[in-house]
Amino acid sequence: MKALFLGVGEACDPGHGNTSVLVSTPAGATVLLDCGFTAAHRFFAACADPDRLDAAWISHFHGDHFFGIPLLLLRFWDMGRRRPLALVGQAGTEEKIRALMEMAYPGFMVKLGFALRFHETAPGTTLSLAGLRWRTAPTLHSQPNLGLLLDDGRCRLYYSGDGRPGDEVAGLARGCDLAIHEAFRIEDEVVGHGSIAGCRRLKQKAGIRRLALVHLEGRVRRERREEIDAILARDQDLFLPREGDELEVGAAGPRGPAGKRPVPPDPP
Ligand SMILES: [Zn+2]
Ligand SMILES: [Zn+2]
Repeated sequence: MKALFLGVGEACDPGHGNTSVLVSTPAGATVLLDCGFTAAHRFFAACADPDRLDAAWISHFHGDHFFGIPLLLLRFWDMGRRRPLALVGQAGTEEKIRALMEMAYPGFMVKLGFALRFHETAPGTTLSLAGLRWRTAPTLHSQPNLGLLLDDGRCRLYYSGDGRPGDEVAGLARGCDLAIHEAFRIEDEVVGHGSIAGCRRLKQKAGIRRLALVHLEGRVRRERREEIDAILARDQDLFLPREGDELEVGAAGPRGPAGKRPVPPDPP
């Protein structure tokens, strides 16, 4: 399983696209993890085949995680997509996406030319889709958010969406090969958001092999880079991916190619 980082930012960071990850499996399936304001353009820049995507996961109903869906669907229509597309999330996903499409492009849902297959899942259930097992756990966020574990039978990837991890997340992510986790600040300062410190605790507690930090607040990413780099230097399995980085989820060795690459500082 591979993870391509289409975006690594939070909602308001002008220097980085909203956090969104394109997962591809050895069997050839692809899954988009979250699709916020900026994600659809990044997806199409990375994937020119309108029929390639099997499923999109929506972690929760904040704009930086699902307001890109109308553009994703519109562009698929424009490109002549024919394959059904699975849209997966918590209870209410179908209603929210239908309402969002009606706001963005009224009357368009019936013209798409390809089927939408909605899957609404919940913690404690396992969904089998695109050759993967999908399991979830709630995180601690201002809106209900589900963290997602994807398992292809060989390796396991955890994606947090937004929110601090509680015990249920630690249980779900236990021993996984790669966790992609939001860290809004360095320490736990913002209720309902993760932190680098919290991610380090989760990594230790759950025995996670590698952890990629995403969704850092833009100001923190720009102004406190030396502190962040000092933390990363102490743990070679904790890293800050950039847009365009692609990781082999179950890769041997402490770090994938993105982790080894020297990361230049962000422009001011
Ligand atoms: Zn967010
Ligand atoms: Zn959120």
